[in-house]
Amino acid sequence: MTDCIFCKIVQGEIPSRKAFEDDLVYAFHDIHPLRPTHLLVIPKRHIASLAEVGAEDEPVLGRMLSVAPRLAKEHGSPNGFRSIINTGQVGGQEVAHLHLHILGDTKPVGPMLERD
Ligand code: 5GP
Ligand code: ZN
Repeated sequence: MTDCIFCKIVQGEIPSRKAFEDDLVYAFHDIHPLRPTHLLVIPKRHIASLAEVGAEDEPVLGRMLSVAPRLAKEHGSPNGFRSIINTGQVGGQEVAHLHLHILGDTKPVGPMLERD
């Protein structure tokens, strides 16, 4: 996708603070961190959202989750973390390239969602 900012990050056309990369996924620090640890793990191949995935995406989806614990530990969240995937308008997704947020700290990160 030529006009996707996360595809451009994968290609190195937009700079990012890389945390990890392998054949399937790329991980980098969120530009506006909501907690001391705030990483994004994305598929290298463009997938618009979790609403778009199929069975052929199972390897990359598995990889996104399986790298998360090590990345959290290595980047300042040794005792757990929160993982979030926002999907579509209802989920509050702003960037239309699938991404897993990893949020962490040395202390609890707080409530999952604000109550109405
Ligand atoms: P969403 O709301 O789509 O789940 O989250 C998108 C996230 O991407 C936000 O937390 C936002 O700060 C982050 N983000 C948007 N543009 C960039 C960018 O150019 N670089 C980095 N590192 N993060 C970005
Ligand atoms: Zn993309």
